[in-house]
Amino acid sequence: MIAPASDEQARHGGPPVPAADKTTVAAATPWADRLRHAAIILLAAAIALVTLAVLGEVTVLAAGAVFVCVAAAALVPWRLHDAANKRDDVPGTSPVETPVVRAIVAGMPDPAALLDRAGRVLHLNAAAAQLAPALRVRELAQFALRNPEIVNALREAIATAEPRRVSYLDHAPIERWMELIIAPVQVPTTFGGTDQCMLMTFHDLTPLRRVEEMRADFVANASHELRTPLAALSGFIETLQGPARDDAKARERFLGIMQAQATRMARLIDDLLSLSRVELSAHVRPDVQIDLAPLIRQVADGLEPLAKERQVAIEIDMPETPAVIAGDREELLRVFENLIENALKYGASGGRVAVSVAALASGEGGTEYRVAVRDFGPGIAPEHLPRLTERFYRVDVGDSRSQGGTGLGLSLVKHIVNRHRGRLLIESVPKKGATFTVCFPPVKPEVRA
Ligand code: ADP
Repeated sequence: MIAPASDEQARHGGPPVPAADKTTVAAATPWADRLRHAAIILLAAAIALVTLAVLGEVTVLAAGAVFVCVAAAALVPWRLHDAANKRDDVPGTSPVETPVVRAIVAGMPDPAALLDRAGRVLHLNAAAAQLAPALRVRELAQFALRNPEIVNALREAIATAEPRRVSYLDHAPIERWMELIIAPVQVPTTFGGTDQCMLMTFHDLTPLRRVEEMRADFVANASHELRTPLAALSGFIETLQGPARDDAKARERFLGIMQAQATRMARLIDDLLSLSRVELSAHVRPDVQIDLAPLIRQVADGLEPLAKERQVAIEIDMPETPAVIAGDREELLRVFENLIENALKYGASGGRVAVSVAALASGEGGTEYRVAVRDFGPGIAPEHLPRLTERFYRVDVGDSRSQGGTGLGLSLVKHIVNRHRGRLLIESVPKKGATFTVCFPPVKPEVRA
């Protein structure tokens, strides 16, 4: 919300208005417009004086002199008077205060206010009134807006009659980044012709800024994750070229570590590429019929060596009938690989991992399938659960790295599940293990086999 100017500022007329404001205002009224505004007065005066002259009531000379006086008075630029910038100088209705202009401003989706060339509010929509409650029709916007960046931009726009754009941080009711655009517009008047006004529109840039911040964070995290194994590789290369050149035993050990680091880098790049691929196709729902049972068995078989190494038994519980969903085979393999591998790595102390597929009747007809991967390890503290699917989020960074983790697995799972229009549920009781459940919606009849 934009706070109003302080009372003190308002009493003293705020920071001084540049002299250019007033002169521009007066001088900028075009002669053609002035003539148009004064036409009716001039016409009436001419008719009356000609009639009086014809009737012999006044001499032609006197009638001419009176006409010149009336014309001079009518042609004085009336805006000279209301450019005085005094708060209590409330003018009458402006010729641009028409229902059409009001309707257009009211209908604008963003907060918007139309000002006259001196900065006085002519129309404002409900969103603008909510954003800046101090803005009042027929009062100067400069007095209602306290933010110095806005006030300066407004003054400059009024003085130069050129567009201005300013971004600022609004603090109330919540902190958000806003952008104000002030654009000069020619608005049709009730007398015909146009009058120059200023259209102020406010835009909420917060979502855009957030995306920018997330992108910057992502690049920083990805670079950091790649730099760590790269630094290890460079260090070992130097050691192998120098002190360990002739040490066959050390060479063997270092080459093993280097291979693990190179594998980690390759995995990270694979995960990053998979993430961006899934993001690109997020709006396209996969449409191939896939039976979950053989897919899950294939993943479990592939992870058997890791299970043996960690001394964990994988138990699989499948329904008798095929569990068919609409999916993308490669992406589903990644989902189950990630979930079962995590259970084997982080829940190894539980000694077993249970993978089950359950069929539930969905409300809309058809069958919803739920695949649950449960381990009996240390579990996850509740404060971490909402953040687990964020990119690079780990409960214990050291533990994840030592297990060859990238911190991207669950983020990838979430994106793939979203693309399948499914849900990922994470439940955990510390010391009793964790359960990751993926729910897939029923197959639509048009899905191809
Ligand atoms: P990572 O590559 O680190 O495994 P993930 O995105 O797959 O990345 O997982 C994020 C974090 O979630 C892991 O680092 C780990 O701390 C935690 N986590 C995932 N699965 C489990 C689990 N079954 N038990 C305990 N913690 C887990």
